[in-house]
Amino acid sequence: MQTIVTDSPLEAAEYLNAGGIVAFPTETVYGLGAGICHPEAVERIFLAKGRPQDNPLIVHIARPEDIVRVAGQISSDAEKLARRFFPGPLTIVLKKNSAVPDSVTAGLDTVGVRCPSNPDAQAFLQHCRCPVAAPSANLSGKPSSTSWKAVLQDLDGKIDCLFRGEPSTIGLESTIVDCSGATPVLLRSGAVSMEELRSVVGAIETRDSLQADETPRSPGLKYPHYAPEARIVLCRPHEPITTATGERSAYIGLSTPSARGLSLSRVCRTPDEYGRMLFDFFRLCDSSDIDVIYCELPPEKGIGQAIRDRLGRAASGH
Ligand code: AMP
Ligand code: MG
Repeated sequence: MQTIVTDSPLEAAEYLNAGGIVAFPTETVYGLGAGICHPEAVERIFLAKGRPQDNPLIVHIARPEDIVRVAGQISSDAEKLARRFFPGPLTIVLKKNSAVPDSVTAGLDTVGVRCPSNPDAQAFLQHCRCPVAAPSANLSGKPSSTSWKAVLQDLDGKIDCLFRGEPSTIGLESTIVDCSGATPVLLRSGAVSMEELRSVVGAIETRDSLQADETPRSPGLKYPHYAPEARIVLCRPHEPITTATGERSAYIGLSTPSARGLSLSRVCRTPDEYGRMLFDFFRLCDSSDIDVIYCELPPEKGIGQAIRDRLGRAASGH
């Protein structure tokens, strides 16, 4: 199959409306979308990515008010969160309605909904006739794509169309909050921080605080994610790094690394820049045959929580 690359949101949406699968830019990471009214296209997303069938997809809407097109019930916490953070990097999990096929939600009775703020994403979604189910536009298990080049690396020839936009400004996947139960639960950290969520809904649980016997609320999170080929070693600020001879080593973090002999190194000026660069740097390391990536842990606040989460997953992915 030939993958058409276009700069036109209208042309990209036409491929989707015709039942195709289309990668598109968002502020978090690039998504790989199918219309929820095209279940056979939804199936093709799983095939193209090599994604396990029990890992549900997030549904993307053009306008905050479109939430009623996919949700059955909207709790008052969900309403407050949507009012404050839509459009933006937040996914809200709600009871689904009958417009959402089981293939999108992996058979769950809930659906994750997001309204992206990126102008290209909005232009694309506005031309799409039905809400768009979209996981990240990468091969399953690889770091998410934060640029159109990364999408082509993983999916050229496997998808109908790529809507080429700017690199993602956040670079980490959305925050996910489950609002389908009595108390909201943080399922995945992202650019909308725990502090910001708490300022809107007050009480919010984390997955760790849930009973161990409770059914996992975010099935996808059990899979290894965000992992480059290289081994990840986490380090604290200014911790001495000793590179092994014969190994190609890289570093990413906020402080200047203390090691000699690094083949690649990226010092980020701010935690935001760290989040934006992280997955791109992982991909660069893979294409440069790096064996070990030393990653400095950023402070545990704001976007730092999401960076630490992704680093932890990447480190345990092998
Ligand atoms: P991705 O877009 O590749 O980051 O994957 C989307 C992730 O959203 C999945 O792996 C799940 O963890 C989560 N998710 C999507 N829909 C639901 C849902 N209905 N309930 C819980 N988690 C969900
Ligand atoms: Mg993903």
